[in-house]
Formats: sequence, C-alpha cells, structure tokens
Amino acid sequence: MKKLDILNYDRASLEEELSQNFNLQPFRARQIISWLYRRRLTNFEEMTDISKDVRKILDDNFYISRPKAVTIQKSKDGTRKYLFDVNGSQVESVLIAQASRYTLCVSSQVGCAIGCKFCATATMGLKRHLKTSEIIGQAVAVLEDEEAKDFTNIVFMGMGEPFHNVDNVIQTVKLLTDPLGLAVSPRKITVSTSGLVPAIKKFGDSGAEANLAISLNATTNEVREKIMPINKRWPIEVLLQALRDYPLKNNRKITIEYVMLRDVNDSEKDLKRLPKLLHGIPVKVNLIPYNDNTGLGYYQPSVQKINRWQKSLLSLGMSSSIRWSKGDDISAACGQLATA
Ligand code: SAH
Ligand code: SF4
Repeated sequence: MKKLDILNYDRASLEEELSQNFNLQPFRARQIISWLYRRRLTNFEEMTDISKDVRKILDDNFYISRPKAVTIQKSKDGTRKYLFDVNGSQVESVLIAQASRYTLCVSSQVGCAIGCKFCATATMGLKRHLKTSEIIGQAVAVLEDEEAKDFTNIVFMGMGEPFHNVDNVIQTVKLLTDPLGLAVSPRKITVSTSGLVPAIKKFGDSGAEANLAISLNATTNEVREKIMPINKRWPIEVLLQALRDYPLKNNRKITIEYVMLRDVNDSEKDLKRLPKLLHGIPVKVNLIPYNDNTGLGYYQPSVQKINRWQKSLLSLGMSSSIRWSKGDDISAACGQLATA
C-alpha cells in the first residue's frame, strides 16, 4: 500500500482518518500534530509519548514530507527567496524583511490560471494545485532554515490564486492557526484573492480564520475586465456584494489591494470613484506600486502620484497604506514570482 503524507491532514481530518482506518483515538491526532509542527519532527521514531505499536502503524502507513530548498537567494535588505522542490514541481516562497518583523509569502499553486495581464505568474499558466502538505511545508521548511529569522506574519500572495485551490488553503490556514500546529494568530495571516466569489463565501463559512485581501485593481468594469479577465465572471458589483455579505469577525477589516498601473487605473476619476465604491464596507486600502520589471508593458506611476493617492484616501477617513516592495534585486517582489 502507498504511504500517505501526514502533512495533508489538519487536526480534524487526521482524527477522522486515524479513527476510521486505524481504530486510533482522537488524542493521537493531537499528539502527532504537536510533534509535527511544534517540534517539527521528520520521523515517527522520536514521538516518544506514542507507544511503539502505534508508531509502527504510523510508520507503515504514513510519511512526513518536507520541501527541499533548491536555491535560497538573499537580498540586500534581508529578504530571502526560496525555490522549493515539491514532489517534482518548483515553487517559490519569500521571507520578506520589514521594519520590525518578517513576513512569509507562500505559494498556493504552481503557476496560475487567472491570467491577469500585469502578473508574471500568469505567464506560466496553471501547472497544478499545491497540496496542503506542500503549502504548510513551505512554512515549516523556512522555520527549519537556521540562517533565516522566524516570521510573525504569513501571506498567501506568492504564486497562484489561493481561492482556486480553496479546500487546501482552508486546511492549511487551520493548521497554521491550530494551537498545537504552528499557532500563528489569525490576525497575522492574510489570504489574497483576485475575486473568486463562490470561494470567498466558502472560505468565510469554513471556520478557517485569516484576514481577507481582495485584488480590486480598478474602479470600472471596463478597465478591470481588460487587466483581470476574471472580472467577466464576477464583475465589481458582484464582488463588492460578496464583501458586504462576508462574515467578518469583531472589528476586522477587509484589505483592498490596488496595484497602481500608470495611465491604466491611476486617473483622477479613479481616485474619486474608489472611495465611493467601497463606501459602507469595512476596508483598508493597500496601494501597491507596480513592480515594472516584468516586461509586460505596464509601468509604475510617479512616487508623487502614489503618495497623493494615499493622502487623499486618508483625508476621507479611510485607512490606507502603500506597499513598497522588498527584495527587488532578487525578483522576490509581488508579481515577480515565476519559475522557468
Ligand atoms: N492570486 C492572488 C494572490 C497573489 S498576487 C491575487 O491575485 O490576489 C498578490 C498581489 O500582487 C495581488 O494583489 C496582485 O494584484 C499583485 N501583483 C501582481 N503582479 C504585480 C506586480 N508586478 N507588481 C505589484 N503587484 C503585483
Ligand atoms: Fe494569478 Fe494573482 Fe497573478 Fe492574477 S495577480 S494571475 S490571480 S497570481
């Protein structure tokens, strides 16, 4: 019989698997999850509070995977980009150095099917979805890198569209936030989506806890459709209604990402329309200056304009920030992730 990768289970699904197929008690799942993520063991042998017989059952039926770093590139600013081999596919994760913390950016797919015109990952097309073990494995592997700093925040903004692979992303978020798992606070996890409306609903109802970020990137359907073909399926008004209906936890806000593209979505009219569109939805706006070394024919607006947009939104009482990119020198910035 083929062995199963035990990192593909969150606590609830492992309890179910162990009880249904191996007649083991739920507390076994708790022990195992804790060994896998708190101690980050790679063998069952060392799980010393589990009896020999049970360890043998585990060893006969499961294995513990760990992505292999093929290369690690180090930026001048402390950012590190990992190229991992996961079951024969290559994916990237980026450990981003920020003022007082490190944020880990993980990939959820190999490539991406959504086809946004400004995005380097889009040029790969979708090769495949990543399994839960391959997403959570990126975080575990970075924690095991002794040269790297521990991260406090984690974002699903690497390669791929997380909500196109929503079931595995839900499981991964549950493992990240499980107190016996990596025990990351839900406030420090952000899942970013281009706007797959049914999956937004599914995620909201799943019990997985994380911040939601939406790549809006335009203020009219006409422009959004041109740069994000997904807008034909779920246009702006449908997307915004899904945000109004989203079950937000106490005082949280949804992040609205707005990649600023010169002469495409940065007009005075856009600046006027944006707050009107978002009126009544609890949001913070994250302005993302476009990283224009993609060769895709899109360019970053002037620094003055970007700053003026932020000021203007702030003056209306909207929460707004600018996300200047890190690790440009190693192509680790947003939208630069694409493996050959
Ligand atoms: N697929 C998801 C998450 C990954 S992309 C999504 O689209 O939301 C993460 C963010 O990077 C998105 O907001 C996307 O619009 C933005 N992005 C893509 N290419 C970029 C680039 N070259 N410069 C700046 N931001 C970019
Ligand atoms: Fe995919 Fe996000 Fe890139 Fe669009 S911006 S192609 S959804 S990774």
